[in-house]
Amino acid sequence: MGPNCTDCVKRRAEKRHMEMDYYQTKAKSTCKDSAYNYTYLIMNLCAEAGEVASKYAKHVRDGGYIAKEDLAKELGDVLWQTAVLADWLGFKLSEVADLNLAKLASRQQRGKIGGSGDNR
Ligand SMILES: [Mg+2]
Repeated sequence: MGPNCTDCVKRRAEKRHMEMDYYQTKAKSTCKDSAYNYTYLIMNLCAEAGEVASKYAKHVRDGGYIAKEDLAKELGDVLWQTAVLADWLGFKLSEVADLNLAKLASRQQRGKIGGSGDNR
């Protein structure tokens, strides 16, 4: 039984899922009832991603120090929106992550990481 035994790999994956889904549960617990709808969650996901871009744009414009912690906080806002939107759609955050990793692994195996198109 080494660290890569089937049961060990499965247990680590289950732990990662539990941690992601725990975050999702905690995130949802801070969501106001009036925010738990498709329109708000989609629009504010875009807005929070825009805040990440805006912080970086100001760094590009003004130069100098980039406040990575501020960027991390905005990424956290993107994560919150993603987690709660996933919940609204009926997905666990870990399921969204697994779908994404499976898609990327498939693209990598087929030499399709570069390029464009959702279903390449
Ligand atoms: Mg924000």
